[in-house]
Amino acid sequence: MILSDLMIDTSWSLFLDRDGVLNKRIVDGYVKRWEEFIWLPGVLDALKILSGLVGPVIVVSNQQGVGKGIMTEDALVKIHSMLINEVKKQDGRIDAIYYSPHLATSRAFMRKPDVGMGLRARKEFPGIQFRKSVMAGDSLSDMLFGRRLGMKTVFLSGTMHDLRKGHKLIDFNFPDLWTFAETIQSLQSAVRHPQSPISTSPPHHFTISPPSYPHTPNAKS
Ligand SMILES: [Mg+2]
Repeated sequence: MILSDLMIDTSWSLFLDRDGVLNKRIVDGYVKRWEEFIWLPGVLDALKILSGLVGPVIVVSNQQGVGKGIMTEDALVKIHSMLINEVKKQDGRIDAIYYSPHLATSRAFMRKPDVGMGLRARKEFPGIQFRKSVMAGDSLSDMLFGRRLGMKTVFLSGTMHDLRKGHKLIDFNFPDLWTFAETIQSLQSAVRHPQSPISTSPPHHFTISPPSYPHTPNAKS
């Protein structure tokens, strides 16, 4: 897959994981109230940019803290309404947040990597076409969810930089949502202003899963 496969426009949909993509993931724990929800750097700006470029922006999130009884579904819904408001205040948009309260052990259809949340989103947003959708997440479970639905998969590696590079479930690799948004924006403005093409070489701080060219030995030798 090459970068121009990410030439997305408003006929596309964007699916986002929550923890580790929008907010700081709490290792071995859960965001139980709004005060514990810490935005990752650049996310609100990224959502502002992406909201102007794509169709539906949908969050799909596993929240088994609810199933475990560590937090209530009410608390989760409250956090999500705060989240949506905050994004709106910064001129961005999240159209819906789907969550799975089920336990990992339940292997529920509504829990990633199974596809239930995606199918529900498409039912409620008939404009969604999975082949024109991107799933961006920070786990291979997100990538499998996206792949099963025929989406493009974008792995946001964060501090695990490069670790998953080249994994078969991953189409594209970026460090964070901001870099992804910036790239999509550059691609689109290159289409709108073909006389001033952007550089095709990425800035040093982001990586894209490269096509694995076999090493060609120097013909001279
Ligand atoms: Mg995550």
